[in-house]
Amino acid sequence: MRRREFLGSSIAASVALSLPARVVLAADTSSTPQLPAQIPAVTGGGVATTLTRSDLQALQRSLRGPLYLAGDAGYELSRRVEDRSIDRHPALIVQPSGAADVRTAVTFAREHSLLLAVKCGGHSQTGQSTCNGGMQIDLARVRGVRVDPAAHLAYVAGGSLLGDLDHEAMACGLVTTAGTVSHTGVGGLTLGGGFGRLARRFGLALDNVTAVDIVTADGEYRHASATENPELFWGVRGGGGNFGVVTSFEFALHPMQRQVVSGNVVFPISRLRELLLAYGDISAHAPAELYMDGIVSASPGKDTVFVISVCYSGPAERAEQALAPIRKLGTPLADTIEARDYVAVQRGTDSTDPRVRSEYAMSGLIDRLDAGLTAALVAGFEPDPERRTEIFFQQGGGAIGKIDSSATAFPHRQASHNMMLVTDWLAGSDATAHRRYVDRYWKSLQPFTHGMYVNTMNDDPPAIVEANYAGNLQRLRQLKRRYDPTNLFRLNANIRPGAA
Ligand code: FAD
Repeated sequence: MRRREFLGSSIAASVALSLPARVVLAADTSSTPQLPAQIPAVTGGGVATTLTRSDLQALQRSLRGPLYLAGDAGYELSRRVEDRSIDRHPALIVQPSGAADVRTAVTFAREHSLLLAVKCGGHSQTGQSTCNGGMQIDLARVRGVRVDPAAHLAYVAGGSLLGDLDHEAMACGLVTTAGTVSHTGVGGLTLGGGFGRLARRFGLALDNVTAVDIVTADGEYRHASATENPELFWGVRGGGGNFGVVTSFEFALHPMQRQVVSGNVVFPISRLRELLLAYGDISAHAPAELYMDGIVSASPGKDTVFVISVCYSGPAERAEQALAPIRKLGTPLADTIEARDYVAVQRGTDSTDPRVRSEYAMSGLIDRLDAGLTAALVAGFEPDPERRTEIFFQQGGGAIGKIDSSATAFPHRQASHNMMLVTDWLAGSDATAHRRYVDRYWKSLQPFTHGMYVNTMNDDPPAIVEANYAGNLQRLRQLKRRYDPTNLFRLNANIRPGAA
């Protein structure tokens, strides 16, 4: 899924790929600038606190990776996230070189009761991987993928991006489920769910995790799998970053050919009602090998259109049969479906827009795209020359729904789609009218939703976030009390250890 520029095709260099210009390694004390006598910081509970030079020196001496304070060159790059209109300033940033540094950073944050953010790909739409006044752990150096082709396993460092995983696995003729934009972090996407072009065949990204290494709030480094710390293993698969920093994921891989059949079929917006209903019906009955997003899109300066974006990953000779219901929808404005390289498809909608845009989005899971929802969608959709407005249906079903809702902490197995209303506009212009429109439109759509996908949810009140874990909440709360009793890891779809 590319939410801002799904029709774009060029490959953007990932921000996280570039290393900061000035790297201050603790071991190299000659290059360490003078640390300030003290810096102001904020606790997890929002109380002002102070970190002294000796606190910072002790931390810096224990690290192999850099410690950044405001003014250091690396600081700017780390504190920023994908949505560049989010402008938060952590008091300090640790960029661990590996799990040992993560343990040091987590222990420091706990001992000083600091607000703590953990950043992998930085794609959290509410900016939960950065913060004001707390510590950020930026996993940009904890990257890398090792594939074991014989065992069909990938060992993926906790700060890796999806493109790292796809590239290495496919080179061995193997794949696993990843999201649809290659600079999304493996960490956030997997811990919260992981929809993607192969999810209907192989399950969510989290369904393919066979083990993790995780640094929990006590600073301990633990392995969790079906046989070791099994309860923790259950909880990390859907419980987001609530239990600690995952420094390594082990993923099951599946053999797949490199070529898929993929592209966009673009229709005029005048047929929207009929096409939404048809899309709902076709996507509900599609084979597991056919993944199809539906996108209603209005962009300034472009035609307003309805797009079906497909990826068929089964045997090439069966592609046309799978695509036949889409072909029967009549003559499109454009049809770009053709045989393509899977890894190129996975990178094909990466971000290319250098402008800073403000985004405001809502999302909810639906069970079906029926006449009632279609009517509400058509009635409320209003293009605006100042704003990009998109309704995005990310398809679920297939293997995702074959897993019990209590088998992992991710409960929403029966959703047919994740429905997202995404708007964005040039940062700096007046946001009020755009936000009002989204709130008004979403009010008419929300009654058709059943729960939310944690990875695309908004800043909802804590009770709503927790209720979204449905039948898994109490079990998750017990885990939270055991592994993070002070709620050190709170910048996520948070489970409050103390709540009833
Ligand atoms: P970050 O902002 O770095 O982190 C998000 C959350 O995860 C934070 O709470 C963070 O603390 C936590 N976290 C991250 N890594 C770790 C770790 N190693 N250990 C512990 N906690 C960690 N979702 C899909 O399912 N499928 C898609 O196709 C898809 N496409 C997207 C495309 C775009 C352009 C965007 C912006 C989002 C998309 N998403 C998609 C949503 C995506 O899953 C979430 O935004 C997810 O949180 C991104 O993970 P991240 O590591 O990039 O984010």
